[in-house]
Amino acid sequence: MKRALITGITGQDGSYLAEFLLQQGYEIFGLARQESWYRPNFASHLASKVTILFGDVTEGVDIASAVQDAKPDEIYNLASQSRPGESWSRAAETLQVNGLAAVRLFEAVRHASPGTKIYHASSSEMFGQTTTDVQDELTPFNPVNPYAAAKTYAHQMARIYRDSYKIYIASGILFNHESERRPLHFLTQKVAYGAACAALGIRNSPDRNERGRPIVEDGKLALGNLQVSRDWGYAPDFVRAMWLILQQDQPADFVIGTGKSHTLRDLCEVAYQSVGRDWEKCVFSDPVLVRPLEPGNTVANPSKAKKVLGWVPSVSFEEMVGRMVRAQIHRLQHVQTEAES
Ligand code: NAP
Repeated sequence: MKRALITGITGQDGSYLAEFLLQQGYEIFGLARQESWYRPNFASHLASKVTILFGDVTEGVDIASAVQDAKPDEIYNLASQSRPGESWSRAAETLQVNGLAAVRLFEAVRHASPGTKIYHASSSEMFGQTTTDVQDELTPFNPVNPYAAAKTYAHQMARIYRDSYKIYIASGILFNHESERRPLHFLTQKVAYGAACAALGIRNSPDRNERGRPIVEDGKLALGNLQVSRDWGYAPDFVRAMWLILQQDQPADFVIGTGKSHTLRDLCEVAYQSVGRDWEKCVFSDPVLVRPLEPGNTVANPSKAKKVLGWVPSVSFEEMVGRMVRAQIHRLQHVQTEAES
């Protein structure tokens, strides 16, 4: 039985990946912060099927112990401060978690388990203000926020360790991927939540935004720049790509994305339309929410992933958004029922 260690198992991707690898017959070890594991999290339902090793990836000793204890065939390094917007106010911490922790992991593997394969979670945010229409494995990076800068550092160190020490490290340069498990502070989930509130006639939502205001206030959802466009895919498709990347004989980097671009306006339209509402009556652009420096409008060229891995996405943008809206309706109905009882 193959053994896999997942850092960031409590997050969106980590929990889907754990489910996927369990289906493939893997024994799973997850590195998680103790306080996070004992809170409800996206991997809570797997508690009896996985072994949790407590630790913080910013602590080299925790990473080294996890590698020694799990003796993994494969490591999926997903732990991250994963909010680019928030990385402005947590720049040094973001570098620790998204940059230096990766190098600590590479070091731990180099010394204690050089035969282990590592998947490293890179990000399309590294392309930043790109000058190309589509981005592939050869597109230069031009990060424009602390999150992306830290990811670029880790990505380059992954390549350097791979080339210099002949360790199997493969990075997935993943474009945005969303799901029912995206936390509420992410843009796509906010839109799904806004559409769910509109469907249920909720004018002031029970959940609040970063400014402590209801996410939907007086029937309106505040967003930033509605013109930004992204390549948004479905997270369970993307964890399958992570696994495929590590099944290759030789380590290599892959761009993973749908190859289709949608604006935030498109996202709003699809989400509100799925519940029969007009998004333009429910959403407005608030200048306060525009990022200081927006990345460019990036879209993946996933040709290499298709050709080498045979990977193609299985869930469309419209289907994904519909699933997210339905999940939020379900959640809000549950909250309402609890409040009434
Ligand atoms: P996520 O849901 O935010 O999960 C992040 C995970 O990292 C959580 O389990 C979190 O644990 C853990 N973590 C954070 N700081 C940690 C620390 N100091 N020590 C140990 N664990 C820590 O992120 P995701 O969406 O699943 O993304 C997975 C990876 O892919 C990340 O590296 C992300 O940057 C990258 N990525 C994501 C996307 C996307 O669109 N989702 C796109 C490109 C790249 P807690 O529960 O303790 O906070």
